[in-house]
Amino acid sequence: MELVIILIAIAVLVVAGLGTTFLVRPRRRRVSAPPPPPVPGPEAGRTTAPPAEQAGGGAAPTEVLPPTVPPRPRDEAPAPLRGRLTRLRGRLAASRGGFGSTLLTLLSRDALDDQAWEDIEDTLITADMGVAPSRQITEELRTQVKVTGTRDPGQVRTMLRTELIRQIGPDMDRTLHTGSHGDRPSIMLIVGVNGTGKTTVAGKLARALIGEGQTVVLGAADTFRAAAADQLQTWAERTGAQVVRSDREEADPASVAFEAVRVGIDERASTVIVDTAGRLHTKTGLMDELGKIKRVIEKRATVDEVLLVLDATTGQNGLRQARVFAEAVDVTGIVLTKLDGTAKGGIVIAVQRELGVPVKLVGLGEGPDDLAPFEPEAFVDAILGS
Ligand code: GDP
Repeated sequence: MELVIILIAIAVLVVAGLGTTFLVRPRRRRVSAPPPPPVPGPEAGRTTAPPAEQAGGGAAPTEVLPPTVPPRPRDEAPAPLRGRLTRLRGRLAASRGGFGSTLLTLLSRDALDDQAWEDIEDTLITADMGVAPSRQITEELRTQVKVTGTRDPGQVRTMLRTELIRQIGPDMDRTLHTGSHGDRPSIMLIVGVNGTGKTTVAGKLARALIGEGQTVVLGAADTFRAAAADQLQTWAERTGAQVVRSDREEADPASVAFEAVRVGIDERASTVIVDTAGRLHTKTGLMDELGKIKRVIEKRATVDEVLLVLDATTGQNGLRQARVFAEAVDVTGIVLTKLDGTAKGGIVIAVQRELGVPVKLVGLGEGPDDLAPFEPEAFVDAILGS
């Protein structure tokens, strides 16, 4: 009798199991982020609860959407990244009567007296270049004009061009580390204060990389604003990227980042781009959050790029933000957005000085291809109007 009961119980379990498999299969697009592995560092020594639990609640349910069908991007093909700055030079607000033309007018004055040099220095400072670089550029030009005795506009212009390029650092390595290495995708973290253009940068980059033949996973680790994940998903749908997001607001960002990297590795993607939240609540809070995201990702892969997005129109405020972020995480490159909205392009020099990190990309508008690799020569030529 007991044997019969056991056999019936087994049969019921088998039938239930099959039923569940069939029920779950069509919904495979929704998966739960597995708890990330134990994290070393400040949290080591604890019985390392997964980040999701620390954020209050179970593991973040994460929605993994497959690439859009048909897999080719529906939008027209993106313009190649290379040479975009030259093509978009007209977008640089600084190119339209900005500080470049003011400098050239000042340098062509009949008498280059003390007052004229002071005006030149002031123009550079007003362009957000920073006091020290402005003084250096002015001194250098003044010496050259004195030594060469030249007042020929063409030659003065060449001197100014050379000096600006030198200050920007033509030899800085501005390579964007994307594309798989070995069997691992490159991992890129996008950080910065909300509103600077982080999500837009993630989307524009995904579009450009997919245009170059890469496969891209976008991780919506800005879980504090549902709109950010929706925005990223829209980019994914338009570009053919895959998106990993939580369907719960305020889910743990590290869980989402971990899941995005897992999907990137499993699906052999070329690049995983993780968008983060940029709440500047406290420096410690920011450090904890970004530090945790990075440590959790590094359980599975290397973080190749940490791109700090700064709004070029925010001047000194932007520089203050840059300082805080650089203390929280090792920034590998700067993205200066909204350069189309400011004539003060000098921030390029100031922010590089401040962080010792190159500007790698610049945002020049709201269109999907309005993101360009930064090229010092093309930038200076645009602001000098050549
Ligand atoms: P996030 O909060 O940092 O993710 O910022 P978003 O990506 O949502 O961007 C905030 C706003 O800035 C949006 O309206 C973007 O279209 C706009 N934006 C981003 N980059 C640029 C740029 O280079 N130029 C201009 N004009 N607007 C930009």
